[in-house]
Amino acid sequence: MEILWAFLLLGGLGLVFGIVLAICAKVFYVKVDTRVDDIKEMLPNYNCGSCGYAGCAGFAEAIVNGEAKNLSRCKPGKPETNFNKIKEYLENNPNEDGTVIKVDI
Ligand code: SF4
Repeated sequence: MEILWAFLLLGGLGLVFGIVLAICAKVFYVKVDTRVDDIKEMLPNYNCGSCGYAGCAGFAEAIVNGEAKNLSRCKPGKPETNFNKIKEYLENNPNEDGTVIKVDI
């Protein structure tokens, strides 16, 4: 009989914690812009910091936020291997309001 109470107690706790986690997942949901990861993959990924950001992910985020307007801030990057692809990607993947992020090479 005691083992039944242990199962019920642990099952009940599992259920309560599961519900709390599900509610927290909904309440604290952070929408992620997948364009940041896509652009990061198009950068050289040396994480050298010569663009002025902590790494390629930071530069990619600045591009998507419209903060970084000039792709040539990435010194190791090349127009034919990196920048043209990023520019084309941004033209094909506008913001939610339909505006296109303009960047220079
Ligand atoms: S300069 Fe280019 S390679 Fe270096 S961290 Fe910035 S984006 Fe990455």
